[in-house]
Amino acid sequence: MPKARKVPTRMCVACKQMKSKRELIRVVRAADGGVRVDPTSKIAGRGAYVCPTEQCADAGVREGRLQHALEVPIPQGVHDELRRVIAGMIASQAGESQPKVIRIPASAGLHRRLGAH
Ligand SMILES: [Zn+2]
Repeated sequence: MPKARKVPTRMCVACKQMKSKRELIRVVRAADGGVRVDPTSKIAGRGAYVCPTEQCADAGVREGRLQHALEVPIPQGVHDELRRVIAGMIASQAGESQPKVIRIPASAGLHRRLGAH
């Protein structure tokens, strides 16, 4: 039997798929009641997760799923920031070919592909 993976999983509020935390974007309602996009999971508060796709981000916001999960309205600025963060993630992931394997590079170069070819 394969070893149990220790990667914590969370559910996307839009498509309801379970994914590892690292594959999702956290949106958090901070202690001050403000809603923030929290890609590094550093902000304390009530969190909800969406896939890093515009599809899930839009559905999460427009269909009120993030709002429901966080129990506060999602400001337009948060939606905008979400889209910005996702665009950045998509750009940085372009060309990566590891759909299933979850690696946790301690110090591996994230910039390695920038100069490719
Ligand atoms: Zn999703």
